[in-house]
Amino acid sequence: MINKQPMTNEIETIRSTAAIGVDLGGSFIKIGLISSKGRILQFKEEPTPEGGPETILQGILTLILTFVKEYSNEYEILGVGIGLPGVVQFKEGFVINPPNMPGWKSFNVLQFFKSKLDLPVFIDNDANVMALAEAVWGAGKDCRQIVCLTLGTGVGGGIVIDKELYHGASGGAGELGHVIVQAGGRQCGCGNKGCLEAYLGANYIIAHTVELLDSYPASILNKIYSESAELTPPDILEAVKADDPLGMKIVDEMAYYLGIGIGSIINVFNPDMVIIGGGLCNFGEYLLGPARKVAEECAMEGLFEDVKIVQAEFKNRAGVIGAGSLVFGKNEYRMSIND
Ligand SMILES: [Zn+2]
Repeated sequence: MINKQPMTNEIETIRSTAAIGVDLGGSFIKIGLISSKGRILQFKEEPTPEGGPETILQGILTLILTFVKEYSNEYEILGVGIGLPGVVQFKEGFVINPPNMPGWKSFNVLQFFKSKLDLPVFIDNDANVMALAEAVWGAGKDCRQIVCLTLGTGVGGGIVIDKELYHGASGGAGELGHVIVQAGGRQCGCGNKGCLEAYLGANYIIAHTVELLDSYPASILNKIYSESAELTPPDILEAVKADDPLGMKIVDEMAYYLGIGIGSIINVFNPDMVIIGGGLCNFGEYLLGPARKVAEECAMEGLFEDVKIVQAEFKNRAGVIGAGSLVFGKNEYRMSIND
């Protein structure tokens, strides 16, 4: 006689695996429950608390514990991945001088969570985890050699080889925003001159546009600026779409320096794909079209022909997805690729 009862019970106790992904930004903490296929099962965001590292990490801990409590009946939560700004020593746990977060200097994030959470915790730089999300589950899921540039307030980068982040000797590899594209050029926040970030970081672009307003009196950006006393990247994009002369000048300059940056990246890494993410990737082909032409001129013959230069697939949730992917490890990525 076949007894079916134990089998039924067994099936009922099998839960799908999931990871908690956290994306710490200057303004918001985003948290997601991420499936092993890179889907966001649950999502929440809260303003980043004001204060030093302990206050902010306590805010993150509270969110994590809420997720564990609410979802661990339904899912087997394997661990927590956290994407953080600044230099992240992912093995030792230190996060050093994250921009726009006063009072950190050097703080051991892994040590903070060690005694408070009964789950493995993984950390990495925020641009790195975004690159990982795109490489594993996004635009680059069918490619092996990927370089990702994140164009936001600053410019971040991540290098992913065979679905694993390339960290360099001490964990700091991939700072592609600080590749110098104009020797002796614009002052960058890092202290150097002529970095890619000084031409493509949103703050620099806005400041440069405002400087040029007087030279373009007919530009619609003058009208917007005089009415709202500020300009935003979406204002510039609208100007570009309207063939506004100042808008076109700005996007041409952005594309020129982005193209030089991409061309150099191609020469160094010979990637299958260069993925452009972050808020400014909304400029789409207005930016990528001309940038590809410049990159082609800068890249060595034979290296450019097969490389795809594309927009990122995940928008403002790439951070939580990528942070979650830190938990699953390489075998799980392979599983998802072969599905
Ligand atoms: Zn720099």
